Amino acid sequence: MNILQNYINGQWVNSISEEYWDVVNPASQEVMAKVPAGSAADVDAAASSASEGFKEWKRMPAGKRIQYLFRLKQLLEDNMTELSKSITLESGKTFAEAKAEWVRAIENVENACGIPALMQGDFSEDIATGIDEYMIRQPLGVCACITPFNFPGMIPFWFLPYAIACGNTFIIKPSEKVPITMTKVMELIHQLNLPAGVINMVHGGKAIVDGFLEHPDIKAISFVGSSNIARYVYGKGAANGKRVQAQGGAKNPVIILPDADIDMTSQIVVDSVYGCAGQRCLAASTIITVGEHKNVTESLVELSRKRVTGFGLDEQVAMGPVITPASKARVSSLIDKGVAEGGRLLIDGRNAKISGYEKGNFIQPTILENVPLNGELAGTEIFGPVMSLVHINTIEDAIAYINGNKYGNMACVFTSSGLHARKFRNEADAGNIGINIGVAAPVAQFPFSGWKESFFGDLHGQGKHAIEFFTQTKVVIERWLKEWTRKF
Ligand code: NAD
Repeated sequence: MNILQNYINGQWVNSISEEYWDVVNPASQEVMAKVPAGSAADVDAAASSASEGFKEWKRMPAGKRIQYLFRLKQLLEDNMTELSKSITLESGKTFAEAKAEWVRAIENVENACGIPALMQGDFSEDIATGIDEYMIRQPLGVCACITPFNFPGMIPFWFLPYAIACGNTFIIKPSEKVPITMTKVMELIHQLNLPAGVINMVHGGKAIVDGFLEHPDIKAISFVGSSNIARYVYGKGAANGKRVQAQGGAKNPVIILPDADIDMTSQIVVDSVYGCAGQRCLAASTIITVGEHKNVTESLVELSRKRVTGFGLDEQVAMGPVITPASKARVSSLIDKGVAEGGRLLIDGRNAKISGYEKGNFIQPTILENVPLNGELAGTEIFGPVMSLVHINTIEDAIAYINGNKYGNMACVFTSSGLHARKFRNEADAGNIGINIGVAAPVAQFPFSGWKESFFGDLHGQGKHAIEFFTQTKVVIERWLKEWTRKF
């Protein structure tokens, strides 16, 4: 059995915790590894190593620090196939979806290679006679990230490259449901011969998260996961004087206007709803037709039925299982809830039978029509392959509905009218907007801009926000007087 270890101070070490959890392939239920539950003592060991490592790392010129990232990019590219398979085996998503994770992860490494320019300061000469003022950016110290199960490879890279390029040292806690992929990444990181303590990894669950939140040497925490835990991490971290960015859950609405190109829109919407089996924080969930429409429902139903569900390494498969049996049961009971609230099941994917994978957590595409907009299903993050299809008469009412949503991760509009698109962009209360786009996932140069309960904090992951988050500003005001200077 593969017993996962922590990576601390440049070495593989056993967790101090004696409790271990199974890491399970969601398609087959095969136990692939045992992951330690973790303890505050593991955090302490990683934080001491990272604190020690910081002393040397922060003094290394940024131009030299990024040389490690150039090599990391190459190693990730060279190992993309194996790393993608690992994601499929532990998370269930398809091989193509897993590969797409690495494209964005690598893009973040590339973006962070620009740090020597991106973290430059500002200088004003003569703010008063003989006095200059300037601002420099310095690293914070030890930073830590806590990541969710649904993007085992990509999400740690929203933070790691920027944190270390800015001169911080780093501790990663992958999701205990999918810890194998980041363990493989750490094996690659080991080959970089970074100074000891620059990147560390500790496995576990709540004990590690609480350890981070309480450890005096950890200065900043990046969290991605569900909203309740994001709120907890943000509140406790801030109360303990830490800088926190906490990205939370979502319930993403998409509106389809009568002037949208229906063939293109249906395909994009279906891809957004069922991609990664609906387990994406940018998955479209509530699809709202606005005004008079012909054939949208038929088109969505037809494309949903065509989507092949199964084991993610099989080539013809477009959708894998959900992560755990508990998750499957939860999605199933939410479908019941939608029906009880008056929704009509156009397709029910609950009796999925996947040959060879009978024990897998499979749910096939499901569509519920006319779910009440003020009901529980419409307000709950399902995180499974379920589309709620509803109708609203006007664009104004649709935007008002979106703005009443407690989440604000993404909102999308499909239209051929620039005027409607512009109105939507301006008025919709969500941080990532798609216009004729179904998954408005920002590239590395832009912040991943969740709003409302989809984000707790000020500075998001990626882009310029990342440089601000991982540095603190120091302002220097300097006076040099003529009379102090000896003539020679
Ligand atoms: P989760 O909240 O259950 O877990 C996230 C992390 O928190 C994990 O590392 C886990 O170990 C830790 N954790 C779990 N319970 C904890 C507790 N009680 N106290 C402290 N830490 C705890 O999330 P998940 O199920 O792994 O991921 C799915 C969620 O993540 C969805 O809500 C999804 O929308 C969200 N998500 C958001 C984004 C975003 O950018 N906004 C991106 C991906 C996923």
